Amino acid sequence: MLLGMAIRPRIDVLKRHASAFTEGVLGRDLPDAERWTRASLVRCRGPWCLRCGHSAPRPLSITEGCPYCLQTRGVLDGVCRVGQYQDGCAALVLALKFRRWWELARPLGQRLAWSLRAHIGAGRVAQSVVVPVPMPLIRRWKRGIDHAGMLAQEVARVCDATYYRALWRRGSVAQAGASRTARHRATARGWHVHLRARSRLQGRDVVLVDDVLTTGRTARIAGGLLREAGARSVTLGVIAVADST
Ligand SMILES: [Zn+2]
Repeated sequence: MLLGMAIRPRIDVLKRHASAFTEGVLGRDLPDAERWTRASLVRCRGPWCLRCGHSAPRPLSITEGCPYCLQTRGVLDGVCRVGQYQDGCAALVLALKFRRWWELARPLGQRLAWSLRAHIGAGRVAQSVVVPVPMPLIRRWKRGIDHAGMLAQEVARVCDATYYRALWRRGSVAQAGASRTARHRATARGWHVHLRARSRLQGRDVVLVDDVLTTGRTARIAGGLLREAGARSVTLGVIAVADST
């Protein structure tokens, strides 16, 4: 359902926020993670389309859809989010992602877990497999933090669901390790699915976790691979959605 959406990447916005935030906190004591999360999210919460994640004047169900996704079909069965990618929400995500402030993974992961439980049901989430969107190994090594993995682990913990790193993306650093176990098969564009994924995902509902939804391309690739591996449904859970302009 995300296929065909005309969404412009918001990379310029991302960079602007990253720069502003870095200048704002560099050299200062970082605020309390829970308190800062609570205060920041006040301004960026709001209704959205459960089908594609975009902001809407009122909550829109999977079947309703919105003008962005009404005529399209995709691999995702819905999008749950914490907020819109702006102001405070953007600063939180960027602090986790680029400032390596790992303490934020807990309050942000909790908020995402609450959103998932509220919108697709606590029982269904508990029966789901929570899979993080993988970061290329070389980038993960450079950044020193796997933010999507940390968020996914927190979601799984709060929802009492199963955490499983079903996907990974090739990086030049860790090729030797991957070939030694021979547990993965190659897929297009450097994406890989764990060889045991089919047995663990067959017929299961999957919650795919990432930090931000922008163009939807990454989520579509990951969702497609999880579908091929046998997942019955794939719901994307993100901290923030960058609305198209
Ligand atoms: Zn929509």
